[in-house]
Amino acid sequence: MSLEFIPTRVFYEPGALDYPLGKTLVERFKYMGITMSPTTSHNRITGIPGNTAAAQYREAKRTLVIGVRRSKTFQSCKPSAHYQLPLVTSCPGMCEYCYLATTLGKKPYVRIYVNLDEILGIASNLIKERLPEMTQFEGAATSDPIPVERYTGALKQTIEFFGREPNGRFHPLGFIIAPIFRFEGWQEAYRQLMERSAEELVKRAPSGWSSEQLTLEFISHRFTSKAKATILEVFPNSSLPMVEDERKFKYGQFGYGKYIYQPEEMQEMKEFFQDQAKRYFPLAQVEYFI
Ligand code: SF4
Repeated sequence: MSLEFIPTRVFYEPGALDYPLGKTLVERFKYMGITMSPTTSHNRITGIPGNTAAAQYREAKRTLVIGVRRSKTFQSCKPSAHYQLPLVTSCPGMCEYCYLATTLGKKPYVRIYVNLDEILGIASNLIKERLPEMTQFEGAATSDPIPVERYTGALKQTIEFFGREPNGRFHPLGFIIAPIFRFEGWQEAYRQLMERSAEELVKRAPSGWSSEQLTLEFISHRFTSKAKATILEVFPNSSLPMVEDERKFKYGQFGYGKYIYQPEEMQEMKEFFQDQAKRYFPLAQVEYFI
């Protein structure tokens, strides 16, 4: 099976045609024979088929929307960075535990933005506001930008932009291990994951590269009531652990509460991952465990 993301249908905002990338993409998808429809807003897409929530979800994941991002600021992105850098929204993947189940609901169609110069202009302004401090941006906070990179080139352009910005940082090379679950044999399973990651990194790293430049972030599994409702509607047979009584309730930075593991479980997991980090990536920077 091809792992390339080829959308089944594409919507585009007519305003996207005012940008060279928008024009090129619309022509490219037409040439590929993909169904194209104009839409008034990339935030309100109607016409995604499916008789059930599960079918609509699957179809949404195969739907690409080409839009213009109009907001003049970015959302904060604690604890991994100062700001989210919105290159793309959503991801064609269908992981049940995905964080996007909370933020994007049942129709998580993939959105790309053609006004990248304007988006990077906002990043420039935010960097200036925080001078002389360094400002860090996260490019995958509400998306996986990789599957659509072949269409947009947005990551390439962004990496080049940050190469010219002495006070801005795109999130450095690192691993985010998430979500971390507790299950029978979890320690050995995650130990193997860390071991394998270290081996693969050594094989692929460019010469002269050192793991001092690597960051590690660990995020334990958590869920919101909204995510649970969406997940159970879209994946009725889900076996994700989402029993509220087994968890501790905690308010989050965006105003909604979430169910996290109990404090003693969190402590055990934190110590375990700190040990694993020391063992397999002794020079790397552990940014946080949450
Ligand atoms: S963003 Fe990550 S977790 Fe979510 S569906 Fe895509 S690959 Fe899976």
